[in-house]
Amino acid sequence: MLKLANPGTVTDLVTEKDKFGVDRFLYLFLSFGASFRGFRRLRHVIVIDGTHLGGKFMGTLLTASGQDANFQVFPLAYAVFDSENNDSWTWFLEKLEKILADSSSRTIISDRCPSIKVAKAKIYPKAHHAACIVHLARNVTACYKSKGLAKMVISAAFQYRIGGFRKIYNDIRAASPDCARYLHKIGIAHWSRAHFPGDRYNLMTSNAAEQLNKALRGGRNSPILELLKFIQDMMTRWFNARRKKSLKHTGMCTPEVDKVLTANMEACKGSKINMVSSWAVQIVGRFGEKHQVLLRDRKCTCRVFDKLKIPCGHALMAADSLGLPYSSMQGDTFKPTAWVDTYEGIVFPPEEGVDYDFPADLFKVSVMPPNTHRPSGRPKETRIPSTGEVPVSQITSLSPLLLYFRTCSILTHCFPIEVAQTKEGSSKQVFPLPGCGPQQDQLQNPHLSLL
Ligand SMILES: [Zn+2]
Repeated sequence: MLKLANPGTVTDLVTEKDKFGVDRFLYLFLSFGASFRGFRRLRHVIVIDGTHLGGKFMGTLLTASGQDANFQVFPLAYAVFDSENNDSWTWFLEKLEKILADSSSRTIISDRCPSIKVAKAKIYPKAHHAACIVHLARNVTACYKSKGLAKMVISAAFQYRIGGFRKIYNDIRAASPDCARYLHKIGIAHWSRAHFPGDRYNLMTSNAAEQLNKALRGGRNSPILELLKFIQDMMTRWFNARRKKSLKHTGMCTPEVDKVLTANMEACKGSKINMVSSWAVQIVGRFGEKHQVLLRDRKCTCRVFDKLKIPCGHALMAADSLGLPYSSMQGDTFKPTAWVDTYEGIVFPPEEGVDYDFPADLFKVSVMPPNTHRPSGRPKETRIPSTGEVPVSQITSLSPLLLYFRTCSILTHCFPIEVAQTKEGSSKQVFPLPGCGPQQDQLQNPHLSLL
């Protein structure tokens, strides 16, 4: 009914026969037509993650999501499995690849789960693979028992320029040669923004997926059919609210991009402008630091413009001097038109009593639950923490890491801050201010000191 109510929706159900010849549930996939059509207007970054399901038969929920032009989490696809392993991740990515083809312009962000690595290499060989920096920092904390090292790893990962990265990486090597070897073995380009060969924009973590998992918490202990209903209700609500909001918006940039531009401009106040050519401008900051903006190429030597596809303060000043509108310089996927297009589709609830033309074979299908059993006791309300993650219930005073990643919502230099879920599923990230990334010491950042 869900599929018939939502034309273009992709679903799949895989069963296996048990020793008695009975068909039992194995895999389930769901991607709403409105969802994957809308996803094509987003930055080409897919965040994938898995979370445990409660209920009688346990299992795992895998999700793929992205971020819209207003920095809100955008769900793309869901799958239910018995567990996370090579086969389940490969099947999930195979289904995903049918709706979003493999391409060198695509980036996949995930934790460093070996099964994801295997599946990604097989199904999305052309796409770039980026590590979630929060998971990486947790691993460093757990393996090397040092929050200071994790702090340096985050700082190095977020650098825009190779010079800034090298300086901090040398500090890591001096503090812990073993940790430096571990990071080198992972592959520097896998976690360093400055070295990353593709585009990951502001998306340095898998926070979008974690926010989505959190929004689904109310349905994760339910039987699968109820979980699907929960997902559809949420999607209907989110699409409707965001469609209204995007259509009502009249600005040249989305509200969140506008905040970033305002902050970027503020950070460059007092700088001087030297014209180099009709499209190249040198900006000299208050403290004498120099940056060159190439407007034609949408680049700046601070590399914020190049990496985020949102103009840094230097580029905004250059645009001002040439009379160019700011809106002409932001990437297409950040524009209000992209925001509206993203939510053009509608997620319909299945209507009871509608005369749907069900396929005849459907009535012959009988699927039994998998042969798994829930452990005794009440189902857990919260998910099982990842390596190095501190469960919220064990925090007696606010953990600096959680405080840093979950509650800060003010504009800040150098690091994206991810804020709490709203009823419309916000997963907002705040960008670094221009001129403060590569050339200033991120270790001085007050938010980083909370780590
Ligand atoms: Zn710049």
